[in-house]
Amino acid sequence: MWRQAGELLGACSTRTSTSVTGRGGRSLVSGVLSIKVTRRNPIRTPDTPISGATRSSYRDRIFDDPRHDPYQARGKYPEPTVCESCGAVFHRGRWQWASPPEDANRERCPACRRIRDRLPAGVVTLSGAFLGSHRDEVLQLLRHEARQERDEHPMNRIMDVNEAPDEIVVTTTDIHTPRRIGNALERAYHGKLETRYGEDEYTLHVTWER
Ligand SMILES: [Zn+2]
Repeated sequence: MWRQAGELLGACSTRTSTSVTGRGGRSLVSGVLSIKVTRRNPIRTPDTPISGATRSSYRDRIFDDPRHDPYQARGKYPEPTVCESCGAVFHRGRWQWASPPEDANRERCPACRRIRDRLPAGVVTLSGAFLGSHRDEVLQLLRHEARQERDEHPMNRIMDVNEAPDEIVVTTTDIHTPRRIGNALERAYHGKLETRYGEDEYTLHVTWER
């Protein structure tokens, strides 16, 4: 899994497989499967029309999607469990920001386990001349979106923000935060957005360039 994430990162940073994402399409290029929607994305966009013949392919895509987070194995945590690292509470089948009962089971949550293992599920790579001249502004938007996502879904978080002179690489504990960040950047600044899912693993690499 670590190796795959590295390969994914490598493939993207060397720009060997740019422009693989047909909008709304599903294509296999360089061993990377590109899918624009997942079962966890209830938001309808122009890429996910809900009428006519496209509907069945949309539904097929949702239910064929084999991705699941191995760190979020169901039934593993007794209820209630409080994360001894971040304080999130597992209750009624999901992690929430809440006050735990005193006798709650104590364990490390999936997000904190990923952080401990240094094994991100998501990567966002930002680059381009516009980024160079608007770095602070872009970072502010990125952090704002990530904060909102984390408030709504405790398991979805930024792990690291690595700033290099010509790019910024953000790693996350999940595959939703990268997509949220990418969509927000595209909405605010346009630019070129690409989304690539790992073929077999719960991984996502979003690149944004302007
Ligand atoms: Zn935690």
